[in-house]
Amino acid sequence: MDKSDRAANYQKLKAFALNLGFDLFGVADVMGMRGNFLLEPATRDRFGLAVSLGKRLSDAVLDDIADHPTQIYFHHYRQMNFFLDRGAFLIADDIQKQGFGSLAIAASQLIDWDKQKAHLSHKHVGCAAGLGWFGRNNLLVNPELGARFRLVTVLTDMPLEPDAPLDRDCGPCRACAAACPAGAIKDTREAFDHLACYETLKEFRKKGTTTQFICGICVRDCRGPKGQA
Ligand code: SF4
Ligand code: SF4
Repeated sequence: MDKSDRAANYQKLKAFALNLGFDLFGVADVMGMRGNFLLEPATRDRFGLAVSLGKRLSDAVLDDIADHPTQIYFHHYRQMNFFLDRGAFLIADDIQKQGFGSLAIAASQLIDWDKQKAHLSHKHVGCAAGLGWFGRNNLLVNPELGARFRLVTVLTDMPLEPDAPLDRDCGPCRACAAACPAGAIKDTREAFDHLACYETLKEFRKKGTTTQFICGICVRDCRGPKGQA
């Protein structure tokens, strides 16, 4: 097989990812955004593409959430991180075995606690890879899954055909805004109140159900445009 065939590499890697259990696969050209990655410059500049991988959350777990994150959701969240990290590890390993560079980025790992920053934004990569758009709830919204999925990223220099971002938005839907206990979700994503959301997550954490800053309410209520129909 011609290892420089971008379309063939894409299809082979996608089949590998779906076989591992991922539900969403896309490739983003990250040349224009990698300056924001919190990586060593030589590492950052090595990779011009990113594979974005999504896994659907459990409907039963999300539907069990009422007005606060549950123990079941917390457990699911941790299992999801394990799945995402293991999947990204195996995909990065497969790319490396094929003779290309790859770097799996942790699904949920802050490296600048004060600024709440990770190595990169999986959401921005997923958006560039055509897996969804930024919704009013500041999450990535997929046409089929809504916000009911999580993402992980593998950076690579493997020749792959990049996807194009989706030209979509939430339209008239406001389902998440009505449910948010912080009143953080506004009419536009730009007006999203990060601080109000964060303060509410801190309160949930203080109450002791979870040891992480999670909520799940606006994930639960975002089934995407299809789900609201
Ligand atoms: S995570 Fe919770 S508090 Fe934050 S925007 Fe979503 S529903 Fe509101
Ligand atoms: S619930 Fe509706 S408005 Fe909110 S992010 Fe999802 S699609 Fe957009």
